[in-house]
Amino acid sequence: MTAPRQRPLLLLDVDGPLNPYAAQPERRPHGYATFRMRPPSWQASLAASRPYGRPRAAEYTKPLRVWLNPDHGPQLRALPFELVWATTWMHEANAFIAPELALPELPVIEWPSIDLHRQDPEGLHWKTRQVAAWAAGRPFAWVDDELTEADRAWIAAHHDQPALLHHVDPRRGLTEADFTALADWAERTAAP
Ligand SMILES: [Mg+2]
Repeated sequence: MTAPRQRPLLLLDVDGPLNPYAAQPERRPHGYATFRMRPPSWQASLAASRPYGRPRAAEYTKPLRVWLNPDHGPQLRALPFELVWATTWMHEANAFIAPELALPELPVIEWPSIDLHRQDPEGLHWKTRQVAAWAAGRPFAWVDDELTEADRAWIAAHHDQPALLHHVDPRRGLTEADFTALADWAERTAAP
């Protein structure tokens, strides 16, 4: 008997695919609910942005507005993938995002380095090399709103398993077409 084939990984960005932050602020996208969250990293970034101000009690800090579509949790769980957080939220995605989407606690890519302003010598997204290292030896699909052709080409050349870098429009978040594309890719990848 052969061991059952491992499912491919689905690496999930939060801001963009799940939280369509770039939609018009006064017009919440259809199907989404509004959440106001105070993850510790958000509070810390607010505090750091006003170094000379007096620290404020947590309840007075401005919460982060997050739009989430509760249907996305069941839709993601129905896909033939192992879900993984690939987001700057890191473990806060399990604490704040997963419960609202009825997702279980998921593995987290702990970025050794989050440098949003570093210029990559090959023009890659700051996550790309770290994703390849984390997913070494495994097929993966990756949904993110900041992927480019440079990332696709680099992963194709440096990752020895099938990989789908799937761009999601941060004005709309994950759509039916995105779920279909992910399911189709998983089916093609699993075919002998
Ligand atoms: Mg994003």
